[in-house]
Amino acid sequence: MRIAFLGLGIMGRPMASNLVKAGHEVSVWNRSARQHIDGARTAVSPADAAHDAEIVWMCVADTAAVERLVFSEDGIEQSLREGMVIADSSTISPSATLRFAQRVAEKGVQWIDAPVTGSKIGAENGQLIFIVGGPAETVQAMEPLFKAMGKTVIHVGDTGKGQSAKICMNLQIAMIYEGFAEGMTLARKLGVAPEKMVELVQASMIRSGVVDYKAPFVLRGDYSPNFPLRLMHKDIHLLLDTAKEVRVKLPALETVDEIYELSSEEGWDDLDFAATIQLLEKWAGLGGQTK
Ligand code: NAP
Repeated sequence: MRIAFLGLGIMGRPMASNLVKAGHEVSVWNRSARQHIDGARTAVSPADAAHDAEIVWMCVADTAAVERLVFSEDGIEQSLREGMVIADSSTISPSATLRFAQRVAEKGVQWIDAPVTGSKIGAENGQLIFIVGGPAETVQAMEPLFKAMGKTVIHVGDTGKGQSAKICMNLQIAMIYEGFAEGMTLARKLGVAPEKMVELVQASMIRSGVVDYKAPFVLRGDYSPNFPLRLMHKDIHLLLDTAKEVRVKLPALETVDEIYELSSEEGWDDLDFAATIQLLEKWAGLGGQTK
């Protein structure tokens, strides 16, 4: 298929590469540097990338970035033709997704929200899980593309439901990690070796995918970004704003948000969100790193 892929960050770059490897004809565009992908055409604008594409796939930072890609002067709106599909693997606002989808529907274009989970390693290995909202036939027709980039597609429901489910999932990732980080910090202060604490967690009912992924990094004190703190912080704000729209209170997440605010003030935005443990360690007088 002819695909325009917009946004070549931690996630987008390996996703676009996997589409090329699967034999698709891919045009890519990225706002700044790192624009080239072997085997793909480098476009000069989102509109240029989308020019002859059947599907436009996006994976950019946030709601404002998606709005810019689609609706700005050189945005893909200029190149939309009836029958095209826009797939959005960014994590953005569910209500904005609905607004954007309605706007492009006027041109006969369908909007599939397809945020992902699996992080950098899942994107590189083609093992992402897609959390999808949109019409069933379109989602089915996109199966070969999902397969090229991921291992599982969970079709949640209509347009917007993928984003809704995704942010509610990230709420739990942030909370599970915070629980792990607080448990690890107190244990360490009480003289329990971090490795022993992880061994106990992994052997018990509190074992989780979050800990499977993050514990090796935490034990090494390696906070290089897999899922940057600034993006989890963005998702926490998406959650709090969305909860407000539908009048739901999230008191624990409000507290976690404060940890992220303070971590951001520490200058850790571009580190992995696992770096938030360093704040707890600092408060506990344990120094900046687990080891
Ligand atoms: P990233 O490495 O920070 O890449 C962000 C991408 O968005 C870059 O291509 C960036 O372009 C582009 N961008 C940002 N603002 C823009 C704007 N105003 N206009 C145009 N392009 C803009 O982030 P990522 O980790 O790939 O994440 C991408 C999306 O996937 C986010 O919504 C994130 O929440 C979600 N996600 C990430 C992970 C993960 O583990 N990393 C997992 C699941 C979901 P430049 O290169 O020019 O800055």
